[in-house]
Amino acid sequence: MSDTNRKPGALCNACGGDGRIADPKAAIIGREPQTVIIARLCRWCRGTGRRPNLHPPV
Ligand SMILES: [Zn+2]
Repeated sequence: MSDTNRKPGALCNACGGDGRIADPKAAIIGREPQTVIIARLCRWCRGTGRRPNLHPPV
C-alpha cells in the first residue's frame, strides 16, 4: 500500500507484500454467528511478502 515499502524482488501479488492473507471464517462468538478474519501466513511467499524473481509475473 505504501510507496516507501519498495524493496528488490518481486512483490508477492497473492498477499500484496503483506506476508499474510486474510482468511474469513464463520465463528460463533458468544451466541452470535460472526465472521472472523484470520490472518494466515501466505503460502506463496511464506510470509516474506516477496518472491524471488524465478518466474516472471503472468
Ligand atoms: Zn505472499
